[in-house]
Amino acid sequence: MKEILKERGYKATPARLAILEIFIKSKAPLAAENVYKELKRSKKNKDINEATVYRTLSLFEEGKVLTKIDFRKGSVFFELNKKHHHHITCFKCDTVEEFESTAIEKVLGGIVRNSSKFINIKEHSLELFGLCKNCVA
Ligand SMILES: [Zn+2]
Ligand SMILES: [Zn+2]
Repeated sequence: MKEILKERGYKATPARLAILEIFIKSKAPLAAENVYKELKRSKKNKDINEATVYRTLSLFEEGKVLTKIDFRKGSVFFELNKKHHHHITCFKCDTVEEFESTAIEKVLGGIVRNSSKFINIKEHSLELFGLCKNCVA
């Protein structure tokens, strides 16, 4: 973990390490509130305040340690910046599934070729929403 921070030129403060650890352990994307709650639960890190959480999340996003995800909710979600992928989210229970699709990437790459105003696309986000098998039953 310290290596991840060092690579990006960040000092490994206790708050940064604690927040990074939460993301490494988490199976799902997290909003600032989730991170804060998680910190409160641990004896060691319960003094880290909300402002520090927000500051650290945006610092990590700038440094590409974390990626932002827009699940169209009140808050912004983050996850560790790993191989490019997309998500399917359940409307009802918030179950998240990741997927990769070379077909989608190809189609998106082709869109810019037909654009009259753009010469390249630097990034994109694509999130799908639906009902999971548990919630349909
Ligand atoms: Zn569901
Ligand atoms: Zn993509």
